[in-house]
Amino acid sequence: MSGYAQEIYERVVRNNPGEPEFYQAVKEVLDSLTEIIDANEDKYRSVSLLERLIEPERVVSFRVPWIDDNNVVHVNRGYRIQFNSAIGPYKGGLRFHPSVNQGILKFLAFEQTFKNSLTGQAIGGGKGGSDFDPKGKSDREVMLFCQSFMTELFKYIGADRDVPAGDIGVGAREIGFLYGHYKRLTSLYEGVLTGKGIPYGGSLGRTEATGFGLIYILEEILRHRGGKLKGKTAVVSGSGNVATYAVAKAQQKDMRVVAMSDSDGYVYDPQGIQLDVVKEIKEVRRGRIREYAEIVPTAEYYEGKGIWTIPCEIALPCATQNELTLEDMQTLHANGCRIVAEGANMPTTREATDYALEKGIIFMPGKAANAGGVATSALEMAQNSMRMSWSFTDVDAKLQHIMADIYDKTASAAERYGVPGNFVLGANIAGFEKVADAMMAQGIC
Ligand code: NDP
Repeated sequence: MSGYAQEIYERVVRNNPGEPEFYQAVKEVLDSLTEIIDANEDKYRSVSLLERLIEPERVVSFRVPWIDDNNVVHVNRGYRIQFNSAIGPYKGGLRFHPSVNQGILKFLAFEQTFKNSLTGQAIGGGKGGSDFDPKGKSDREVMLFCQSFMTELFKYIGADRDVPAGDIGVGAREIGFLYGHYKRLTSLYEGVLTGKGIPYGGSLGRTEATGFGLIYILEEILRHRGGKLKGKTAVVSGSGNVATYAVAKAQQKDMRVVAMSDSDGYVYDPQGIQLDVVKEIKEVRRGRIREYAEIVPTAEYYEGKGIWTIPCEIALPCATQNELTLEDMQTLHANGCRIVAEGANMPTTREATDYALEKGIIFMPGKAANAGGVATSALEMAQNSMRMSWSFTDVDAKLQHIMADIYDKTASAAERYGVPGNFVLGANIAGFEKVADAMMAQGIC
């Protein structure tokens, strides 16, 4: 990185103390854009384009008081980062997890801006959440928390303004509570959240979309290289929404998924993961992945990190940021892994990504690989606006088309810039170009 891009990176570090994930995300994008930035430096500088690109349009932070089942009052912190609305209303998930802070949400909202651009739909970038941990809470406690959270958030969102969705710790239950309270506060029945239940405006296929989309783009990668998913061995980290439906689609395509995890540890089942058992543990009982090995005799449970030591041809990190390190990538490479596609947001550290690219591992970044979730959220918005609901088959066909289009845009941008196969660079460039053009056209705002 040099010149204007370097200045901007230094500005980000200076102005956002203590936000390392945000620096990491900005650095990756700026590194990829060096050539475009150099070629357009005067034009971009004249309107401070990059200064505006790295500054969220709005950051809202608020107190979320709630009362637990023992009448104890708790106070969490809520956020909404409205990062960039150049190409559409802000769109991005809400994350409820104890690790949530402003820097993590800024990294996610910044990434979201380019991801949403890549989908080809009219959606800007946003993200939000809270350091609240839904794990171990009763349904009543989760509801009271969601209602308190929405009591503040509703002032800043709307169907044509900012449309949140789920993310880590925010699934169908939380979206339901949030939606019910928004409706009560505003008297509006509108598509203000996506990932809603089917009876009240949700889209068929949204639950599955991120995981399915990941496998569709993987299929594109192989198709362009004369390969097939059938028979390939994969390791999938996580056992939440993205991981579950990635495994479901992978198995439909006759892949063999041998491991899944949660934040405590991982299970290895050489016979292939039995997804119905995982779903019963995770979706019904809200239990731990270790229970899988108590039920399935062919499986072993291992406490802690280490899922990437299991030999596989395809690795799909679907849990959280920076979960796949340089050492993990070296192990994956030594064990014959040839493709890494990110279901989670920024699950691979920068060093690990560089190593993968250097060693010729095909690496599809989350911005492209997990965009199926937000793309289908935008389809949910379209259905809500039209007061219509499309069939699962229709939505799934649109998703497949969108993922193939994202692959093409990403691959062709990489080729245009002389680095064929570098999908990190391709996704960043393709996402950036549309946002930059829209910002240039809209003047200083
Ligand atoms: P869920 O909450 O449904 O699942 C998250 C999974 O990751 C759980 O198995 C969880 O384990 C595990 N996990 C969370 N934090 C950690 C950690 N620090 N270390 C190890 N494991 C961890 O979330 P999603 O599946 O929705 O999201 C997963 C990732 O995908 C996130 O990066 C999210 O931003 C990204 N994403 C999600 C989309 C969506 O549509 N849901 C769309 C695009 C991206 P445990 O249960 O123990 O916490």
